[in-house]
Amino acid sequence: MTDAPPDADARRAIPPVIVYPPEALPDPRIGDRLAAFDTYEKTAEVLVPPRDARCFRVPAGGAFRITSVEAPQVGDLNLWNADDISERFFSGKTRAIHGTHVTTGDRLWTVLPHMRPMATIIEDTLDWYGFDEFGGGIHDVIGTRCDPYTGRLLSGDDYHYCCHSNLTRALAAELDMPLAEAERHVHDVLNVFMCTGFTRDTGQYFMKASPVRPGDQITFFAELPLLGALSACPGGDCGADHSSDVARCAPLLVEVFEGTPPEGWAPSERSPYPGTHGVV
Ligand SMILES: [Zn+2]
Repeated sequence: MTDAPPDADARRAIPPVIVYPPEALPDPRIGDRLAAFDTYEKTAEVLVPPRDARCFRVPAGGAFRITSVEAPQVGDLNLWNADDISERFFSGKTRAIHGTHVTTGDRLWTVLPHMRPMATIIEDTLDWYGFDEFGGGIHDVIGTRCDPYTGRLLSGDDYHYCCHSNLTRALAAELDMPLAEAERHVHDVLNVFMCTGFTRDTGQYFMKASPVRPGDQITFFAELPLLGALSACPGGDCGADHSSDVARCAPLLVEVFEGTPPEGWAPSERSPYPGTHGVV
């Protein structure tokens, strides 16, 4: 350990600066999107079985909703541009822009060089939760996904129904693609309904039993044509175990809605940055 300098307290006392002020972002016009959504009709639904994943598609200007059914259950969500799956959800930048956990009014952004909103959260029945005394919040973009590689590292065992594997199998089946190829497209998730945070004293990633109850839901407006995959995590409510068959698990319902988008709405546009990176 290094001895603290004499002015350590003064250095620590410097107030933080918000890196990406939210007021600088374009207005997501949640009211317009919600009003349009109220007129939409359900066009598809898929029930994601426990310890497994399923894909779904949403046209640009449509919406999708994830609902807890039967018992508290956490879901791991991947999203791609359905027309080009190399453009996918960028959990890191979404976190930097909106914070560790997302809720109504926040957007899910795509990777560079696209860097545009792919979905906007228009409803979240767990928005009352906020942050608890441990620093836990709901719908995080700080975890990655449970996976068999970390499982092997920590336990020495192989468990085949982690979210990473579930998402890989689902995408491979949807795109009729070899598993190894599909796996390369699986990415850091939005942890739907999961309650997580970092411990205040040691900064460690923690989870705790999700406050989600059957009937809770989160609804997304599709700013691009979307291909989604949702895994019903083997951790169930993620209150104790994951990466095993121990926890009680329940299905998750995904519903897709379509209708006339709000007036003036258009699919989001790719970042206008020219990609020259200073080279003339
Ligand atoms: Zn999982």
